[in-house]
Amino acid sequence: MAHEDGALNAQEPTNVHLKTNEKLETFYETHEKLGEGKFGYVYKVTEKSTGNTYAAKFIKLTPKSKKEVTEEINLMNKIHHERLVFLYDAYQTSKELIMVMELISGGELFQKIVDEDNLNEADAARYLIQILQGVHYMHCKNIVHLDLKPENVMCVPRPGNKDDIKLIDFGMSKVLEDGKELKVACGTPEFVAPEVISFEPIHLASDMWSVGVISYVLLSGLSPFMGEDDNETINNVCTGMWDFETDDDFFDDVSQLAKDFIGELLKKNPRERNTAERCLTHEWILKAPEFEAKKLKTDHMKKFIARRRWAKTGNALRALTKLGSLKKERL
Ligand code: ATP
Repeated sequence: MAHEDGALNAQEPTNVHLKTNEKLETFYETHEKLGEGKFGYVYKVTEKSTGNTYAAKFIKLTPKSKKEVTEEINLMNKIHHERLVFLYDAYQTSKELIMVMELISGGELFQKIVDEDNLNEADAARYLIQILQGVHYMHCKNIVHLDLKPENVMCVPRPGNKDDIKLIDFGMSKVLEDGKELKVACGTPEFVAPEVISFEPIHLASDMWSVGVISYVLLSGLSPFMGEDDNETINNVCTGMWDFETDDDFFDDVSQLAKDFIGELLKKNPRERNTAERCLTHEWILKAPEFEAKKLKTDHMKKFIARRRWAKTGNALRALTKLGSLKKERL
């Protein structure tokens, strides 16, 4: 059962730990592959005792992955919200770590938008409200996601209605402790905040930059900091300079209020960025239903998705390594 703010009741499954004495196949049947990421493959599974379907992420077991997955499990045990994928079960075998999660069957949001080619500003605002609800819940617990990007926004189909969304992938998420500075070198350069790239202390506001980039792409199909190569992208983010490409047609159909919404997130100084809570009461969000007639073009987003697919097959890994080496250079 959900509270008014979307948080799930304490009776929901919560305290998952890695099972080392039991095997996944005793309890689940594995089916088709749903997706893959840098760290592993995700398959659809069915729980034999209930017939319920889940998504199981298989990650190669190494000392490093064991530490990271244990941290991810501990973190996911703290977050239960209808906009965040929930963790149901976890196993460790001699070769793999397996996280059994809620199955989100509608695919990635941006792909769905392109397939349907029927996006208006009211829809875009509705998706952003749901992203912000998940982010706000995490931020209330002082947890920063740190990997908000279009691939981590998934669709939950609602027959006859526009989909709902859920956020996935808490592999980079961190709990911020009061009075303690935290610096990280992770994330995807196109979506990551300048303070992450320059290895300065991170804030909850680091996520808000990424929400700004997601909003920009959602409304225009254009990626605001994308350069010719990883170096150029990293430099573009570091300068914190961007615009609405007024020479081109990308933002022709986008309202001024939506542009204001983005402008209040893509601020180089994290303290100046809008919080998730303030975004949820932004004038554009409140007036969103009035923008139903503002149909948005999706052809640019089609190109964006094709390029991200390519990036996922190697380029992103290089960029991530680059963030690590940039960190070393600056130390
Ligand atoms: P990344 O390279 O983005 O860091 P990762 O290795 O951390 O990826 P995930 O992002 O968690 O892995 O998952 C990879 C892909 O698997 C996702 O992009 C999505 O397509 C699919 N996927 C992940 N979780 C689920 C889920 N709960 N339900 C359905 N599909 C999922």
